[in-house]
Amino acid sequence: MNIHEYQAKQLFEEFGIPCPKGSATSSSQEFSSCIDSLGEGLIVVKSQIHAGGRGKGTFTDGFQGGVKLAKTKDEAVEYATRMLNNTLVTIQTGPAGREVKTIYFTEGADIEKEYYLAILMDRATSRPVVVASTEGGVDIETVAHETPERIFKEVVDPAIGLQAYQARKIAFALGFEGKQAVACAKLIFNLYKMFWEKDCDMVEVNPLISTKDGGVSALDAKVGFDGNALYRRPDITAMRDLDEEDPKEVEASKYNLNYIALDGNIACLVNGAGLAMATMDIIHHVGGSAANFLDVGGGATAEQVTAAFKIILSDPKVEGILVNIFGGIMQCDVIARGVIEAAKAVELDKPLVVRLEGTNVEQGKKLLAESGIEITSADSLADAAKKIVDIVAAK
Ligand code: GDP
Ligand code: MG
Repeated sequence: MNIHEYQAKQLFEEFGIPCPKGSATSSSQEFSSCIDSLGEGLIVVKSQIHAGGRGKGTFTDGFQGGVKLAKTKDEAVEYATRMLNNTLVTIQTGPAGREVKTIYFTEGADIEKEYYLAILMDRATSRPVVVASTEGGVDIETVAHETPERIFKEVVDPAIGLQAYQARKIAFALGFEGKQAVACAKLIFNLYKMFWEKDCDMVEVNPLISTKDGGVSALDAKVGFDGNALYRRPDITAMRDLDEEDPKEVEASKYNLNYIALDGNIACLVNGAGLAMATMDIIHHVGGSAANFLDVGGGATAEQVTAAFKIILSDPKVEGILVNIFGGIMQCDVIARGVIEAAKAVELDKPLVVRLEGTNVEQGKKLLAESGIEITSADSLADAAKKIVDIVAAK
């Protein structure tokens, strides 16, 4: 789960991580009071969407820049008015862009130099890793590709946490000296504390800046949380913004379905994450492309299967459906009933291939055969994938 920059900065303040003072609103009537709550000087007007690259983004009406520096209050109000309820397209949003529903005003910082700082879960070592670079502000992937020596990494032992010497090591690697090195190490230390205590899976500060008065400050903030830990973080869950998530994924989470929307045209409904991955692979292998990942779980009910069906069919890209169920705990007749109910409820008009195997498979097949719904049955996973891909291709 991701949160907005202004929410991330609230957490930063809670953990003593220096960042420019700011104020957010979703109402144009509050622009003026938000700006008045800040100090004198430059005002930064920032579109709040769950995607980076806002500064270089363009709105669909042609207005340039989702992050703007304003010299006066009037100018700040003008920018904010152009941004609110406008759609911002950045390299991370895709061509459709995202509607800006909140504006964040911050005090303008006097930037001396921009750096990159992040804490992530490193899958190779199964440990948190602090990543830092002197090349901040710009696209970090390009830096990693072209000048990997400019990226520093410090792996953390989760049992003892980030050690003070490690935070100092990074601060020195970034070229900080004296008091500024101490301030930077403290910022990194507190950032790790937040990462750990709030179950983050990513914290990215790009740019981290040094200021001309000798300080360091987090100018931008991108924070993501481990969805599996949200049950114990009600304060974090309260920050969830459903407008920023795929509506199909939101609907799926209501029914405890593990659903992820993808770009292809063949929807899959599978029980078990491993089998769902294998199903996607084999669809790809026979020349097709999956419209989603969907694991209905080991003990899905007919209601869940119906919900799952409706969700995959609400995707206009879908041209065919593959149901692949291995009935272990799951019983094939339950799945069959769910498929029939759903197909009737949505007046299914897309080709459907079903492969059932395992507990109560005969009852399941019988129910499907007698349902009056047009279903192609398949005997093996490979057979099922080939059938649906061929049917969709022939249309
Ligand atoms: P992003 O484009 O979504 O990553 O948004 P950022 O918050 O990183 O802002 C984009 C860029 O705007 C930064 O990299 C800075 O160069 C610039 N910027 C943001 N805030 C300030 C500020 O307070 N002062 C100055 N001078 N530049 C800023
Ligand atoms: Mg940024």
